[in-house]
Amino acid sequence: MSPVRKTPYEDASALSKTPSQLVLATRNRKKMEEIRRVLGQEETRLLTLDDFPGCPEVEEDAATFRDNAAKKALTVARHSGQIALADDSGLLVDGLDGAPGVRSARYAGENANDADNLALLLAELASRPEASRAARFECVLALADPAGSLRFFAGTVAGRIGHEARGVNGFGYDPIFIPDGHERTFAEMPASMKDSMSHRGRALEAFASAIHNIEFNTRF
Ligand code: IMP
Repeated sequence: MSPVRKTPYEDASALSKTPSQLVLATRNRKKMEEIRRVLGQEETRLLTLDDFPGCPEVEEDAATFRDNAAKKALTVARHSGQIALADDSGLLVDGLDGAPGVRSARYAGENANDADNLALLLAELASRPEASRAARFECVLALADPAGSLRFFAGTVAGRIGHEARGVNGFGYDPIFIPDGHERTFAEMPASMKDSMSHRGRALEAFASAIHNIEFNTRF
C-alpha cells in the first residue's frame, strides 16, 4: 500500500507560528515603517516590492477594499513565493453615498494628487447639510501565502469632514478628517496619535495580535 502523502498544511514540519519573513505589497517606505512600529518585534524580516522588481503591477479595480487587498497580496505571494501582506484603504462620506471609497486615490481623476482630491471633496460637500459630513476611513489588510490561502484584518475610524484643510502632517485626506471625540484633524496630530486610532493602525493591531497564531505554510 502506498503511503498517504500529507499536504504541506498537514505536515507539521512545514508549519510555523510566526513567519520569519513577510513581503509587504508596497513600495511606500512610510507604510513599511508604520508596520514595523506596530509589529514591534524583530522576529519577522520585512521585505517590500523593491526586493522583487519583476513583480507584476496590480490594478486596484475591484469594488471593495477587501478584494483589492486580496488581489495585491495574492499576486505578490505567488510571484515571490513568500507570505505577503497588502492593504487597501479609503475614505467613505455619508452624504456622498460612500464616495470616494475605493476611488479615494483617484477621486478627482486618474492623475489627481492629494490636493485635487481634497478640493473636490470640499466642493462636493459645500452646499450639503452638516450631517452629510459624517465619514469614516476603512482599511483592510490581506495576508496571502503562495498556495492561495487568505486571511483578512480590518480597521475603521469614524469622524467628520471639516470645512477647510488644516494641518501639515500625514497625507491624503488627513487635513480635512476630524476623528470623533477630537477637534483636531489627522493632519494636526502627531503621527503616533493618528496611528493609535487610525483605520490602518487598528487593522495592523489586529494583524499584530494574530501573527503569532496563524499557521503559515513556509515551505513551497
Ligand atoms: P491606498 O490604500 O494606499 O491605496 O490609499 C487609498 C487612498 O485613500 C489614499 O490615496 C488616500 O487618498 C486615502 N487614504 C487612505 N488612508 C488614508 C489616511 O490614513 N489618511 C488620509 N487619506 C487616506
